[in-house]
This record gives sequence, C-alpha cells and structure tokens, in this order.
Amino acid sequence: MFIDCHAHIVHPFNFTTITQDDVEEVIAAAREREVHHIVSVSSNPDYFTFYDIEKCFENLIRVVGIQRGLAQDEHSTMLSSLKEQIELTKPKAIGEIGLDYTSLDLESAKGEAVRKRQQKLFRKQILMAREFDLPVVIHAAEADRDLLGILEEQHAEEIGGMIHGCSCGRETRERLLDMGFLLSFGPSQLERPETLEMVKQTPAEHLLTETDAPAWLRFPDTSVEFQPADVSEVAGKLARMKGMELGDFANAVLKSATSLFNL
Ligand SMILES: [Zn+2]
Repeated sequence: MFIDCHAHIVHPFNFTTITQDDVEEVIAAAREREVHHIVSVSSNPDYFTFYDIEKCFENLIRVVGIQRGLAQDEHSTMLSSLKEQIELTKPKAIGEIGLDYTSLDLESAKGEAVRKRQQKLFRKQILMAREFDLPVVIHAAEADRDLLGILEEQHAEEIGGMIHGCSCGRETRERLLDMGFLLSFGPSQLERPETLEMVKQTPAEHLLTETDAPAWLRFPDTSVEFQPADVSEVAGKLARMKGMELGDFANAVLKSATSLFNL
C-alpha cells in the first residue's frame, strides 16, 4: 500500500474550477495502483473552499497553508483566513510553506525585499503551527541557510514536519534529520542525478514518497503529467536506491507518514 505525501489535487491551476468527479477520477486511478492515501495540499486561500469536495473523500489527508509565492508586506487577512480554516477543517499539517529563492536576484533591492517577505510569512505560519500543535510541510529551494536559521530560531523540532521535493544540501539535510524532519522525494527529484546520494544518505524511516501532482508544472516543456497513482513508481525507484524490498520500503513510508500526520 502506498501513500502520496504531497499532491495538489484540489488546485485548479489553469482550470477554472474542479469538480467532485475530477477528484473521484484521480482517487480511483490511484486506488488501482494501491495508492490508498493522498495528502491533499491546499496552499492558496483562494482554494480553501474546495474543502467541500475534499471532505467527501476519507482517504484525502488535508494540509492547508499559504505558499511563499503569495508573500506580501502584510499578511493579516490571509493569516486569519488560514486560522479559520484550521479551526473549521482540522487539517493534519500546515503547508506548503517555506522559501524559494530560485528566481531571485538576492543582490538587488527587489530580490532582498521578496526574500524578507517570504521569511516573514514562513515565520508566522510556523508560529501558527505551534499554536495548533501541527507539523509543517515545507517547500525550500536554494534557501538552505535561511531555512535552517528560521527552523532553529522557531524551535520547529518541537512540531516536526517534512521537506517536500527535497533539494537541500548535505549539511542542511543532516541538521534536518537531527531535528526529526522527514525528507520527501517525487518525480521531479528523481530526474536529478544527485538524488541517489541524497536518498542513500537518508535513513529509510526518514523518507517519504510524493508526486507533487500535477507535477507537469515542473516540466513546462513536456506534456508529462503526474498523478497520485504514479507514487507507486516513485516508491519503487526509491526502494531500489535504498536496496530494500518494495513492500518493506512502502511499509516504512506509511509508518512514518502515519506518525507525522497523526493518522
Ligand atoms: Zn507542492
């Protein structure tokens, strides 16, 4: 049995809306490939209302948060909307939240301003996660130093969490593992040659599987689209990298996810 620990199945992205039938289809396809649990990440307040659809499916694990791309100077409206969602819908984690400096020129005033805004939003949401005693689902890209600095300053080891689509450097990963964080890998990471070393260096009980569906966003030049069903293939590749039987690896992932999301 497999689990997709990070998917965006109720985000319409470039569609105008999403229906219960759309989600049903995705879940049915996943079930056929033995993917029985899907962590459904809703990280834009505009999409929080899709909870009405999500709540119809008991194998969806709800995670809500405000992603870094929405960071502004002032977050009070978004944060109160998030708080309301947490109180009303009882998600299993706050996410995805974090830092992404990939397209920022950190030497420029503009880049520096965006970096500061992302940090502010990240800190506020860790505080909220602490308030509700929930783990955090983190997106981090080219921001290792600030990521660790903020997690340490906020004592995030007390709430724990996962780094989704992990691309952190070795020292950062070691520190994250010390803090009890789990590292999650999906199709986008499996494309990269350095992932093999990263996976080998991570104990199996700290590894999670994901698709980040619909991951076609990561491959803009192709028509490849990943769905939660594909996490069975991700698990197969990761198990081979770890030199483990697929069943044993899948059980280890399920056990870690069950504990992280308090299932
Ligand atoms: Zn994501």
